[in-house]
Formats: sequence, C-alpha cells, structure tokens
Amino acid sequence: MQKDGKSIRREYKTHARAVGALGKWFSGNKGMALLYQPGKQPVVYRSKHELPIVKRSTQTNFYRTKAWRELRLSILLASDCSCKICGNTSEKGAVLHVDHIKPRSLYPELALDEGNLQVLCEDCNIAKSNNDV
Ligand SMILES: [Zn+2]
Repeated sequence: MQKDGKSIRREYKTHARAVGALGKWFSGNKGMALLYQPGKQPVVYRSKHELPIVKRSTQTNFYRTKAWRELRLSILLASDCSCKICGNTSEKGAVLHVDHIKPRSLYPELALDEGNLQVLCEDCNIAKSNNDV
C-alpha cells in the first residue's frame, strides 16, 4: 500500500483477508495498493471499487443460517437427546451436536438433508472429525 510516497507492506494468510484489509484501508486512505500473490503477477488497485468481491468462509455463514438452526433444532427435538455412538445424554451432562454423517465439505448438497444428520455428543463428534482428517 502506498500513500504520499510512503509504502507499507503487510502479509496476509489468505487472498480474501488481504482484499478485506485493502477494502478497509481504502476507506480511510487514498493511494495505491499492490497485491502480490504467490505464483501470480502483482495487481494494482487504486480504489475500493476495483477490489474483487471475495466470499467469506462459508463455514461460519452456514451455521448461522436460519435454515440450519431450524433444522438442527428439529433434529434435536425429534431425537431422544442421546448420542448415536455412545448413548450419552444431555441429562448426564453431554453436550450434544448435530453432526453431518457425510461431511459438508465433501457433500455440500447434503448439508440440509435430514437423512444426513445425526445427534452426537461433543466427544464423539470430535473423535469422528479427527478420523475424517
Ligand atoms: Zn458420544
């Protein structure tokens, strides 16, 4: 980022974060920004309007959607409030999660499919996601 002949260099973990940061920077500054990405030509931006539109991580957005929250609640209410794997219940102090049997990262079309959801306690859910990795 350059302003009045001064330049600042910052690094960001992801392209989306860099673009987000440039957007903020342009809101308070006039100048020019050079965006470097590994393996690509640097891109010059002179205003916020030139920045690409980047989507935020869909993971956080998904779990905030009304559709998911309502479905999750209905799955919990329809279940007997016990973990499908170990049988632990919320009455015994288990924290229950509604889990995607087929992971959402691989089967996004099943994200809101009731048949792809199961109730797991926190421990089993964490153990399961470790296995997936
Ligand atoms: Zn369990």
